[in-house]
Amino acid sequence: MNRIFLKRGREESLGRKHPWVFSGAIARMDGKPAEGDIVDVYSSEGEFLARGHYQIGSITVRVLTFSPEEITPEWWVKRMRAAYDVRCAAGLTENSATDCYRLVHGEGDNLPGLVIDIYGDTAVVQAHSVGMYVSRHEICSALRIVYGDRLRAVYDKSSQTLPYKAETGAVDGYLYGGSDGVTERVVTENGNRFYVDWGSGQKTGFFLDQRENRELVKRYSMGCTVLNTFSYTGGFSVYAMAGGAAEVVSVDSSAIAVKLAERNVELNFEFGARHVGVTADVFDYLKENGRRFDLIILDPPAFAKHHKVLGNATKGYTRLNARAISQIAPGGILFTFSCSQAVSSELFRTMVFTAAAIAGRNVRILHQLTQPADHPVNIYHPEGEYLKGLVLYVE
Ligand code: SAH
Repeated sequence: MNRIFLKRGREESLGRKHPWVFSGAIARMDGKPAEGDIVDVYSSEGEFLARGHYQIGSITVRVLTFSPEEITPEWWVKRMRAAYDVRCAAGLTENSATDCYRLVHGEGDNLPGLVIDIYGDTAVVQAHSVGMYVSRHEICSALRIVYGDRLRAVYDKSSQTLPYKAETGAVDGYLYGGSDGVTERVVTENGNRFYVDWGSGQKTGFFLDQRENRELVKRYSMGCTVLNTFSYTGGFSVYAMAGGAAEVVSVDSSAIAVKLAERNVELNFEFGARHVGVTADVFDYLKENGRRFDLIILDPPAFAKHHKVLGNATKGYTRLNARAISQIAPGGILFTFSCSQAVSSELFRTMVFTAAAIAGRNVRILHQLTQPADHPVNIYHPEGEYLKGLVLYVE
């Protein structure tokens, strides 16, 4: 067994069950683990601390367990079942209105480096670490045991999320089922229908983390003119229309995304004048189009992928929010989000505060939003809380 010994005094975070070992904490290594191998972590005193996946990089070990248990096929079944039980408790597994949800959310499910999204009878597995990629067949078998006949296919979508330098040669494709090669189906979310293509879509194909926030948009949309920016699949647009919006404009810089939003609107409603898709950069669109809207949704991609670029990201978020706030009709609503892990909820609120001041409008916070229960936060890994949202009433 490969063994890693920590520097004196560096065992504290593992003692608090934080699931990462940073390279700087390591004193020495016994053995020559390959990336993705299982390694054991010991204190400088030689006390066993944790067992996890080894990887070259600043996070050297992602912890799978804090006890010296074997990582067997049964172990994977146990972990998948634990994740399933959480979704069951959240009312997502037997829900006729919603057949898509996240089954595994990395550290939040004690499976660092692994994401699994369920789309009806298909599971889409996305490995962010080499160890999870190496384990993909065991993960697939475990999923089949937990779901039984309800699972017809398991798709691996790891090629873009694995570290580039690891040279895994990963190619996306089915691990089980999917013999027809089709990668698209219609899913239902809170009774709304969406095309999801896990083969060609962004991430695993759909942003499941906005499910409850979309439902809230629906509640505020009656009779409103709505601008949905960074619209991708048109998730918020469909909910706004379901809520009785008078008109919805979806803006995304990707023409493919705009087409998808239009298809999703068509899937749910008779195609009519109530929805317009616009392919444009949101910053340009807002600058060039001075029009006011009753409700605006800002759901940009993560501007800050890590702390080093936080300064620029802060400016970007502030500029975007200031522009949007100034384009809200009096008495209108802004839904604004940040999905950057590096942006804390405090920093996000400060940015939106600055934006309100720049726009010179009176603003009240009506709701403070976050990620739903199928994106749980491991209490020992607070970094897992990444989605922040505010609903503002703009006078
Ligand atoms: N709100 C979406 C998810 C947004 S994903 C949902 O609920 O599913 C981010 C989207 O922003 C992507 O579709 C990407 O194409 C788009 N995007 C990124 N930068 C952009 C920009 N500057 N202007 C317009 N769209 C942009």
